[in-house]
Amino acid sequence: MNEDVKKLWSQRDRVTRVMTKDGTFRAALIHNPKTVRTAQERHGLDPVGSLILARMITGASLLASYLKGEERVILTAEGDGLIRTVCAEAMQIGEVRGFISQNKAPVEGRDTPLGKGLLRVQRVVYGEYEPVTGIVELRRGDITSDLSYYLTQSEQIPSAFVIDVAYDSDDLIRQSVGLLVQAMPGAKDVDIFSVYDAVDYLGRMTEYTDNGYTPEQILRQIMPSDIDVVASAPVDFFCRCSKDRYKSALLTLGLAEIVGMQQDDHREMVCQFCSERYTLSDEDFDQMIAALQAQSN
Ligand SMILES: [Zn+2]
Repeated sequence: MNEDVKKLWSQRDRVTRVMTKDGTFRAALIHNPKTVRTAQERHGLDPVGSLILARMITGASLLASYLKGEERVILTAEGDGLIRTVCAEAMQIGEVRGFISQNKAPVEGRDTPLGKGLLRVQRVVYGEYEPVTGIVELRRGDITSDLSYYLTQSEQIPSAFVIDVAYDSDDLIRQSVGLLVQAMPGAKDVDIFSVYDAVDYLGRMTEYTDNGYTPEQILRQIMPSDIDVVASAPVDFFCRCSKDRYKSALLTLGLAEIVGMQQDDHREMVCQFCSERYTLSDEDFDQMIAALQAQSN
């Protein structure tokens, strides 16, 4: 690693948003090697699983960067290939988490990990009681082209996602960069083509970061005219689960169920999103049982 790359790695993961000075294109670029490496390590994923989850997490963070505060994006893809489900949830404030699950009986002969299935995009936004949800069929089942297709078709915004993840010799993620570039109303066709061209000929974005390019410098290679940096904010793999949250959720099961869990020695819970393990002690059970008995009195 040269000094520039060391410096980039020592910084926090970050998403940088820019807009062309004429307002016709916007883009977000994320450098998130620590976030997706953490996801890989927490869930103990092989290269295929970690790549698909890294793409989903990166896509969710990029989409969330356009929301506000604790508004969030939940991306879920379900397929019939090797991977059954991949899900990522990201907040504008930079927290992101996600998981993947394998198919026990995958359909053979699919040429992408997810195969055929559906992609669901949900945005939980202030002032809306229900998540704003869109669903499309998986176009390729590789996440990157599925997300581009979703935005272009469902939301009618010409959009390109590029997500590049690089591995070290132990199959662990060492570098990750994602880009979302979108044409706004008033964008000229010739500029849209030039952006698609720039994206096609860009090469691997992780090589740019390996060579010490900053996010802004990479974005300047792609955007059709001069840009302003609109925002730059840190991103982390973070899950809000805790033993207390699990205990309050368990209370909704009722007294008989909780007494039964203790009798059957069902003490361990694993968070689906971050693989954190929680073990309930007898004290935890006593507390929950006392709380439920107090409610019923
Ligand atoms: Zn968790």
